[in-house]
Amino acid sequence: MIVAKFGGTSVADAAAIGRLIGIVRSRAADGPVVVVSALARVTDGLLALAPVVHAGNSAALDAAIAALVDRHAAAARELPGATLALPAIAEDAAALRRELAAALGRMLRPAELDALAGRGELWSSRLVAAALEAAGLAATWVDIRPMMVTDDRHGRATPYMQALGDRARECLRPLVDGGRVPVTQGFIGATVDGAPTTLGRGGSDFTAALLGAVLDVERVEIWTDVNGLMTADPRIVPSARTLRAASYEEAAELATFGAKVLHPATAQPLVRSGIPIIVLNSTRPEDPGTTIEPSAELERMGDSPVRSISWKPGITVVNVRAPRMLGAFGFLRAMFEVFERHEVVVDVLASGEVSVSLTVEDRTRLDAVVRDLAELGEVWVEDHRAIIAVVGIGIRSTPGLAARLFRAVQPANVEVISQGASAINMTFVVREEDGPDVVRRLHQEFFGSC
Ligand code: ASP
Ligand code: MG
Repeated sequence: MIVAKFGGTSVADAAAIGRLIGIVRSRAADGPVVVVSALARVTDGLLALAPVVHAGNSAALDAAIAALVDRHAAAARELPGATLALPAIAEDAAALRRELAAALGRMLRPAELDALAGRGELWSSRLVAAALEAAGLAATWVDIRPMMVTDDRHGRATPYMQALGDRARECLRPLVDGGRVPVTQGFIGATVDGAPTTLGRGGSDFTAALLGAVLDVERVEIWTDVNGLMTADPRIVPSARTLRAASYEEAAELATFGAKVLHPATAQPLVRSGIPIIVLNSTRPEDPGTTIEPSAELERMGDSPVRSISWKPGITVVNVRAPRMLGAFGFLRAMFEVFERHEVVVDVLASGEVSVSLTVEDRTRLDAVVRDLAELGEVWVEDHRAIIAVVGIGIRSTPGLAARLFRAVQPANVEVISQGASAINMTFVVREEDGPDVVRRLHQEFFGSC
């Protein structure tokens, strides 16, 4: 058995779904469980309805829902047999319309936002199941929500592995054993009481890994629109190369610090079993992609242990200086309590005796955080920053690497430097506008230009 997950661009339209059919057919003997994302940009489109509902604009709401349904209809019309999925999609869209109409003029509650955001996966999976079936592959549409039981942290829910394992084995195994291809949704789940939840943006990869772990599959394939993990974002560095292999740890670091290819938590459910994740390009299915394994044979990409450089714009740096805490206990605890209380995630941290700099991505609760931090000392915030992460096993134990790195980065100003507890990355912060240039310089330094 394998899990094959197709991201938004790999189900974006009829042509993409046509390629998906070919890929699934080529894996038929492996017993594939197919997991799909929403069609590209549909989740964004759905979430964009929330402010429309709040504004009470019912005409705009109807038009936007109709346009989203139309994307599916247009794809279906070009795929033999896929129009069979359209009544179910239309029915669900009508239900969504009723739910949202009842909320006109107010903000959607977190559970309602999840019910909204998750519609894209429900619709794409209908379409893909019908298209596969019409292509002669015995596909069965499976609603993942009764299996993917989660807590009730809407927007970033945590699944219960035991329930998922029991139910996924009970439901999916017999289908695969009977020669059928289950087609199910990434990203979504439901609470014990059946309220819809989501696993966080980009969470379909995580779904695929969770299913892979509980079904103890041979491999988890992540089908996307690039050739795998790369030495850098090819839009910034055209000469970037694909990594043939990566460790779980490298993949997680790269994902956390900007590489959009994989959700940061993807490898986590597979750590214990060591099941490989293979990132593949659905427009070039014959390419080998990147195999992510616990201890992959790592090829050297240049003359150093550096294997990839990623960047993440849109970062805010929060600096706290508390001279009166010199020699006192509990400064860091007091500071982190503030972040914890407001549920703000901290990415990079650098600290001195009485001052700390750290980065956050989500600004929504930052004002409250800053207000509370001000009780500890002087606080100042710097916006429009980017994190640069230089990743590779053995980076920390290589003499002279830091010197080489910072020399290459000049003349950009480096702000927060962190080597962290992880031996496999060095991260620092630069001004956002300097980010792409810094990535290019580092790529040139460590990998040359070709
Ligand atoms: N469709 C969801 C999103 O856009 C989940 C995913 O694609 O992984 O975030
Ligand atoms: Mg994704």
